[in-house]
Amino acid sequence: MMNYLRNHLGAKLLLSYLAIVVVGVVVLVIASQVILPSAFNRHMSGMMGNGMGMGMMNGQWQGSGAGNGNLLYRDFRASFNEALIYATIAAILIAVVISLFLSRSVIAPVQEMSLAVQRIADGRYEERVQINGEDELGQLAMRFNQMAEKLNEIESMRRRLIGDVSHELRTPLTAIKGSMEGLMDGILPASQETYQEIHAEADRISRLVDDLQELSRVESHAYQLDIRSIDVTSLVQTVTKRLSQQAESKHISVKIDLPSHLPQILADEDRAIQVLTNLTANALQYTPEGGSVVTSVQRVGDEVEFTVKDTGSGIPTEHLPHIFDRFYRVDKSRSRQAGGGSGIGLTIARALVEAQGGRIWVESAGEGQGSTFYFTLPVANP
Ligand code: ADP
Repeated sequence: MMNYLRNHLGAKLLLSYLAIVVVGVVVLVIASQVILPSAFNRHMSGMMGNGMGMGMMNGQWQGSGAGNGNLLYRDFRASFNEALIYATIAAILIAVVISLFLSRSVIAPVQEMSLAVQRIADGRYEERVQINGEDELGQLAMRFNQMAEKLNEIESMRRRLIGDVSHELRTPLTAIKGSMEGLMDGILPASQETYQEIHAEADRISRLVDDLQELSRVESHAYQLDIRSIDVTSLVQTVTKRLSQQAESKHISVKIDLPSHLPQILADEDRAIQVLTNLTANALQYTPEGGSVVTSVQRVGDEVEFTVKDTGSGIPTEHLPHIFDRFYRVDKSRSRQAGGGSGIGLTIARALVEAQGGRIWVESAGEGQGSTFYFTLPVANP
């Protein structure tokens, strides 16, 4: 019995209604014992007048006409008790009906949600519950649907990620396997060139794994940001210096355009350098020999805006909205042949910029028209 009560919300509701009825009846019974005789006496005395010399003592009528009074009181008491019994039965029946009705309207949505949770736990992430009304249960149903939506998104992201990673790994692995088989069968010469090709593919896998590890760390915020006030000029100079050799080897002119007065920014220095390095390295990579890359910085409101502009291959308009998606490459074969990355760099850059309270975006007039990448970071003392 106790177990049934503990496990059923409907039984608890019914019991609470019955408890209210019982308390009501007990109060009525006590009141009738204590208050009823004196109230009856007062009313009867007022009605019949003191002339009859009637009065009640110890629950019995005294004085002339006491016999009639006793009879009247007994009948009144009996009818009162009868009414009390009917009222109690009616109250219990009403309590049962109300608790049944209420438990149905409360328990049905809870049960529906419980089944939906079970189905989600079984992997059916498209599961949703019906939202009825805007009360607490309605809000719970709404939040539940939001949670299910989020889980569905995460699940499809996970599936896509596994698909993308296997796809990315398959290409270099197939190349390594092909070269090794060629070497074993004697079709490929055991030359320096063959080994270099195999090494380049292995290197590609290793970079992909590093990028993935970094992406997972950044996206799950499993890293500490060391946010402080930092100097923008030295940040830009560090990055330019770091990439100067790459620029020289491709005969690309690299310019820095900084105003004389720039406020300090609030950022993690290493992460800010990582983002600017990524954008500048991309600009150098996708710009042909003889082109130029300009890094400029300016204050816009409470933010400092970094711009990396190149005269390179540009990005066709239809690709612009996806450029920060993971594994997204405008021209997969071009990136690969040019020793390009796996399309994760910009995804990491976006996560890092947003984690530091900034924004990142790109503009390009189209293929062959160059690209301009922008990102912002907050000013230290606005
Ligand atoms: P990857 O490692 O392939 O460069 P990114 O995430 O850094 O990955 O860049 C994603 C894609 O965006 C690149 O493959 C390239 O197609 C495009 N892209 C990035 N920067 C530029 C740029 N400056 N000019 C032209 N295309 C670019």
